[in-house]
Amino acid sequence: MTRQRALIAKIIHSSPCHMTASEIYAQARRELPSVARGTVYRNLKLMEDAGEIARLELPDGPDRYDRATAPHGHLYCVGCGALRDIPVAALEPRLEAAVGAPVLGYQLTVYYRCPACR
Ligand SMILES: [Zn+2]
Ligand SMILES: [Zn+2]
Repeated sequence: MTRQRALIAKIIHSSPCHMTASEIYAQARRELPSVARGTVYRNLKLMEDAGEIARLELPDGPDRYDRATAPHGHLYCVGCGALRDIPVAALEPRLEAAVGAPVLGYQLTVYYRCPACR
């Protein structure tokens, strides 16, 4: 693993929020000023392909990057764009019952207005 990739992994794993590629790049530059934007974007793609991180697509904003952990859902504020994790493991048996086969994965994003935006 390169130094750049280790740094990107550290940034993603130490952030509770779901950062965009440009936020990750900005943070990486603070710690390693010589890092190039292309290097960060290329490593994000490699890490996503390797299953080390997950990429979340949002309808009205740039993709966010997530620590790859057990499957979980997301709560997205349409007002400010805040994105946080919600545990939805209790849904899995229902999904399997509905599908009639083991569920390998899912993406679930719940849209709402956070208390600050309401
Ligand atoms: Zn909000
Ligand atoms: Zn998440």
